[in-house]
Amino acid sequence: MAQILIFLGPPGAGKGTQARVVARELGIPHVSTGDILREAARKKTSLGLAAKAKMDKGELVPDDVISPIVEERLSRPDCREGAILDGFPRTIAQAKFLDAMLERVGFGEPLVLNIQVATDSVIKRLTGRRTCQACGEIYNVYMNPPRHGGICDKDGGRLVQRADDNEEAIRIRLKAYEQDTLPLIDYYQRKNALRQVDGSGDPEAITGRLLSLVKTHDYL
Ligand code: AMP
Repeated sequence: MAQILIFLGPPGAGKGTQARVVARELGIPHVSTGDILREAARKKTSLGLAAKAKMDKGELVPDDVISPIVEERLSRPDCREGAILDGFPRTIAQAKFLDAMLERVGFGEPLVLNIQVATDSVIKRLTGRRTCQACGEIYNVYMNPPRHGGICDKDGGRLVQRADDNEEAIRIRLKAYEQDTLPLIDYYQRKNALRQVDGSGDPEAITGRLLSLVKTHDYL
């Protein structure tokens, strides 16, 4: 039965970086709600413009805006074998919506991987983050710098800083995480769906831990 993997963790835990690699490894789509919203903002759709105002401040967009977007994305044929959800759910209401939706669509129970990192390392990960404008590859100027400053190693695209990777927005995002997202750990623990993953160390080691958990769980 197709199953969804959910990557949980605070902003800056490395969810996006890891979800890209693990999705590639497993041959399933990486569904990042942040990426979907940033793309909509770039295209200046009405959704994108409304979401951008919230995102730039570090606030969450409303549940009833983001949930149907996820439902539409997971209903596409490329998700038939499964998908990695990165950035969703972020509230208990979103988790309940997802549960009902997965049952309706005929997916099994999701497997939730919680990437644990120390909060003091999160600020450095977020302020140092740079993303390739062309392919979305993620770098960090302190921990994982590109070979040539400001340019993507993979395709030479320009590296940019996210509008919400500034100190004020980071503070609000961490608060939103603590208030709205942290309760999901308990929610999924009660369902016995949660696995803890050490998010420290180099990115390859973290990918190895994630993949071995997924394999132990007999996923795919
Ligand atoms: P991310 O790329 O996951 O860090 O998300 C960036 C921003 O997009 C967040 O700070 C929110 O403003 C918005 N966002 C992404 N996913 C969600 C979600 N599931 N619920 C509400 N807002 C979201």
